[in-house]
Amino acid sequence: MMKQSYVCRSCHTTYPVSRDLWKCLCGGLLDLDKQMPLLEPTAWESGPPTLWRFLDALPFEKDAKSWQNVTLGEGNTPLLPVSADKPNVYVKVDYLMPTLSFKDRGAAVLIAKALELGATSVIADSSGNAGTAVSAYAARAGIACEVFCSNTVSPKKQAQMAAYNAKVHTIAGTREDVARAAQQKAANLEEGGFYASHVYNPYFYEGTKTYAYEIYEQLGDAPDTVIIPVGNGTLLLGAYYGFSELLANRLIGKCPKIVAVQAQQCAPLAHAFATGEPSITPIVGQTTIAEGIAIAAPPRATQILEAVRNTGGTFITVSEAQIAKARSALAKQGFDVEPTSAATYAALHVYRHCETETIVIPLCGSGTKASDHIAK
Ligand SMILES: *Cc1c(COP(=O)(O)O)cnc(C)c1O
Ligand SMILES: [Zn+2]
Repeated sequence: MMKQSYVCRSCHTTYPVSRDLWKCLCGGLLDLDKQMPLLEPTAWESGPPTLWRFLDALPFEKDAKSWQNVTLGEGNTPLLPVSADKPNVYVKVDYLMPTLSFKDRGAAVLIAKALELGATSVIADSSGNAGTAVSAYAARAGIACEVFCSNTVSPKKQAQMAAYNAKVHTIAGTREDVARAAQQKAANLEEGGFYASHVYNPYFYEGTKTYAYEIYEQLGDAPDTVIIPVGNGTLLLGAYYGFSELLANRLIGKCPKIVAVQAQQCAPLAHAFATGEPSITPIVGQTTIAEGIAIAAPPRATQILEAVRNTGGTFITVSEAQIAKARSALAKQGFDVEPTSAATYAALHVYRHCETETIVIPLCGSGTKASDHIAK
């Protein structure tokens, strides 16, 4: 594909893509400046049964080989009706990824790009699953990996990162303290170092956009609505970009509404949406069993709010009790997900159009690596 450069969202300065740049000199967030990809669904069928069948739509050269040294077979996850009594509601079973969460979509693409940029070591910060995904793909690519995470992150996720041979730094503090620790290190990168941030690096979203491509392939159209859990917005923005590209290629007639889900205990985006603010007021989040979306100050807040508003979507917040109940209900259908992922199913029950619209919700993280287990 296409030429690409980094462009600052705040001051619009462009930069060549490089290994050591992860935000603008003005402090602004970087997006990818690139051409609209030409999407050719008939060609996808002959590709590998992974997300790399979309290579022509991803930000790599046509004959790029870097991904072959990185792939663990990610993508191509099932889309199934959630239950017999809800034929209009589909689940996209993204916990069947190599590291058991949707983060593999973004991490595979990001690490393939890191390899092209000559990275020999990466650092990441995470509330859990992004760290496990980056650890696995870095290991596969032969790149050293260090992950910063909170000491409250599920011990099973920490063990998983260590199993992939990542060096895990646990921080006593908030998610923002964790990010700060990683960014201190990112400011003084060693030779060959790369900040593999799923939040700051726009290549991660190029991977998560394949979530939308696959839903389109599987339904033969866009659904009316996608319900998506949101902390930092990496799945939400990826889905938005993916559907926007499908729309620009006239493969779908409209972008699905995005219904974004936060835990009541930590819902800065939902509050900003409700009050019509363009961005968030940082909050002090309360602890929630939905650890993957407990983000008090998401850096891409403005973009997330814009995406939800542009699609005519909305926000729903759910309580701890609703999340726990939804998790058990999904398990009774055979789906064992982590609490963060169950938040979307909890939101489905309060979504007004849940009977009439075609809806897709992601089962985006496996229950087997959650801290607790289902209360009987
Ligand atoms: C990371 C994650 C989320 C939230 O994704 P954001 O990019 O922070 O919005 C939701 N569910 C699971 C299982 C996750 O791993
Ligand atoms: Zn700038």
